[in-house]
Amino acid sequence: MPDAPDLLGLPLPALGEWLEGIGVGRKHAPRLFRGLHRDRLAVHEIPDLGRHAATITAHMGSEPLTVASRHPSPDGSTRLLFALRDGARVEGVLLPNKGNDRVTLCVSTQVGCAMACAFCATGTLGLARDLSSAEIVGQVHAARAELQGTGRRLTRLVFMGMGEPLHAYVPVRDALKVLLDGHGEPFAARSVTVSTVGLVDRLRRLGEDFGGRIQLAISLHAGTDETRRRLLPAARHTSLEQLRDAILAMPRPGDRALMLEVVLLPGVNDGDAEWDGIARFADGMNAVVNVIPFNPFPGSSFRPPTDDEIERAWRALRERGVANKVRWPRGRAVDGACGQLVAGSV
Ligand code: SAH
Repeated sequence: MPDAPDLLGLPLPALGEWLEGIGVGRKHAPRLFRGLHRDRLAVHEIPDLGRHAATITAHMGSEPLTVASRHPSPDGSTRLLFALRDGARVEGVLLPNKGNDRVTLCVSTQVGCAMACAFCATGTLGLARDLSSAEIVGQVHAARAELQGTGRRLTRLVFMGMGEPLHAYVPVRDALKVLLDGHGEPFAARSVTVSTVGLVDRLRRLGEDFGGRIQLAISLHAGTDETRRRLLPAARHTSLEQLRDAILAMPRPGDRALMLEVVLLPGVNDGDAEWDGIARFADGMNAVVNVIPFNPFPGSSFRPPTDDEIERAWRALRERGVANKVRWPRGRAVDGACGQLVAGSV
């Protein structure tokens, strides 16, 4: 454990251990945790900590991140640029629901990404480092602060920002433990979705660590191994069959469908063999295929689908009896849509 940890990233048992280590005593951990996460107070503002507040403040790290800038889009979403203490930047996107007061936050887990998916802007950056659990939780705190006084509330998290969440497994796991803990301001069961390229050993770990409390989204993108491997270097050593087996072996929230994401790349992954394979993959899985029209970015070698091509994809899935949803791009006007997150300052 670091000497001066960012408290926001410590799950309750680790917080207790740390308090013990600085001579405060672990019995204060729930109170401190509540103050930090449920009431979002600074340590010196938390009631009943008394003289311990000074000891805690002297030993802890400072704020893990600040909001450097905000970029609202005409569709209602807002891209938030976070500045980390070492000068690195990552992004989060606030996505208000239409028709009610609920908001989803799209969270980042790494500075850059090592997965190098062919169609993703973040992938062109390479990986600088994993975020710490405090930097992940810090995005959620910052988002809640942004929403304060707007009449809207943060009810859902999707780990679909910069980075591959299961590649940054330990910080993501610790952040999830904090964000799901009933002593804080926990997200309801199934309201947290982790999106992954499908690292199978890590999927197994996620299943062991969280049972069915986490919702999964799998970046599928193709129905044949050949196309999938061409698009996702991370799939080179994992076949669709192995991925499917790993998913089926996982405890999942029973009543909610697994999300299978397919970035629609016209002429690349929209042939019959792909749709057949996707239908086979989804069969018997309680899954919904999310078709995401490719969002272009400077230098990308793909083009976005036309409305006709999107319509055809939808029909191809429907004909095969596959539940699906077309995710019309949001945030595109501010480069805050899927795969466009590169933490540029404009
Ligand atoms: N690494 C994780 C989460 C980040 S990406 C994952 O791969 O799932 C979130 C989603 O956006 C993924 O399904 C990803 O494949 C998709 N995506 C990436 N680049 C995109 C682009 N240019 N257009 C549309 N979707 C994209």
